[in-house]
Amino acid sequence: MRTTKRYTNTTFTHRVDHDGGRHRSAKAASSPRVCAGCRALYRNKRWTAGGQGPAPRPLEPAARPAHVLCPACRMGAEGLFSGEVRVSGAFVAEHHAEVETLLKREAERAAEDNPTSRILTLNSPAPDKLCVTTTTEHLAKRLGQALAKAYQGEVHYGFSHGNKFAHVTWSRTS
Ligand SMILES: [Zn+2]
Repeated sequence: MRTTKRYTNTTFTHRVDHDGGRHRSAKAASSPRVCAGCRALYRNKRWTAGGQGPAPRPLEPAARPAHVLCPACRMGAEGLFSGEVRVSGAFVAEHHAEVETLLKREAERAAEDNPTSRILTLNSPAPDKLCVTTTTEHLAKRLGQALAKAYQGEVHYGFSHGNKFAHVTWSRTS
């Protein structure tokens, strides 16, 4: 009886092709990357804001890097921060919204220079208090300077971890 089943050597020669499916282009590492969190664009070793200016050309799905996060979004995702600003005093209770707006505006201006410099959290544990965490020590210092410039008060800058972490306090009692 003749069999119609054709001879196959698949089972004998089948090898797992470890590298066949991988895209190993050296070019991929230097091509522009877009942060999946904030759309910031990484190009020429620098992060630039993705939301401003002409929209970046949409990348082909195959060329789009999966899950690339800029340093700021990565910090946010991991719950890390490099700067902390603690704002307190009776003045804060009276001008809460105004102080909060000043902090946000200053952070927006800082982001124009460096989109990875930003406020991560801003909360108010009490009516006369505001707590801000930032992605960079520079921004924490800058927020302290902005408060002192706008409202005087008392500002103190502390640095730790080889100056890579800034804790800033600002207060105004009246
Ligand atoms: Zn981002």
